[in-house]
Amino acid sequence: MSSSPRTIIVTGGSRGLGAGIVQSFLDSGDRVASCSRSTTPQVKEWESDPAYADRFLFIEADIADRDQSTAFVQAVVDKWGTIDVLVNNAGVARDGILALFSDEDSDTVIDLNLKATIHITKRVVRNMLSHGGGSIVNISSIVGLTGYRGLTVYSATKAALDGFTRSLARELGSRKITVNSVASGYLKTEMSHGLDDAQLNQIVRRTPAGRLGEPDDIARAIQFLVDERNNWLTGQVLVVDGGLTC
Ligand code: NAP
Repeated sequence: MSSSPRTIIVTGGSRGLGAGIVQSFLDSGDRVASCSRSTTPQVKEWESDPAYADRFLFIEADIADRDQSTAFVQAVVDKWGTIDVLVNNAGVARDGILALFSDEDSDTVIDLNLKATIHITKRVVRNMLSHGGGSIVNISSIVGLTGYRGLTVYSATKAALDGFTRSLARELGSRKITVNSVASGYLKTEMSHGLDDAQLNQIVRRTPAGRLGEPDDIARAIQFLVDERNNWLTGQVLVVDGGLTC
């Protein structure tokens, strides 16, 4: 366990990839704050584990709602003062071809994946600027790079996050804040339940590593990006996908 724990925010840490990222930072001895709209058994387990006493904070919040998102960041600052790492993980996918895609689904995807990410990042960056450093990781997706039939709006938000990453890295480089994206391949989480067996089998067949990803595969890449020794690594989109897009 590190001697001076960092404060990490992971949005959407109640399940799936976010839960893997939370666990990874708890394992490395950091203080972790997370939020999602509902509490899960996994969250309750962390809250009651004495090993994580005073190192885990969970708040039920819908970060697509700006007031809730601001209040979440404020609660973390009130508890621990400084924020060292922000992992923008919370995201939602809706599938369907664009011609039939509802405006409501479009808004849901853009409001969370893009607008909420921009809003919470702005709040956290103000804290990082005031204490002189930090790291931000945006979870994007290989479909933002390659495209995927039926995921136009989702892909647009993920490609936009990569653009956000590059511009923000330019803004914050001189202030000792790194900003990177992890473009994840297909993972075994609830989000990929929208893909049928034939699609999943095809993805596995085309993946050099021969399997879908696990949250740990992505969490390890994030740990690398936010390691303070890697402070010359910024503005990048790191693809972690078992080689699918190589
Ligand atoms: P998931 O299993 O659906 O988990 C999403 C997490 O975000 C949950 O904790 C969810 O909790 C939370 N969340 C959703 N809406 C929220 C909101 N409005 N406010 C706060 N929290 C919210 O998804 P996942 O597969 O772990 O995906 C995590 C990230 O990886 C996403 O950004 C996704 O786009 C990206 N990604 C996933 C894959 C994949 O194959 N799964 C591939 C590439 C990239 P609540 O529902 O309780 O709010």
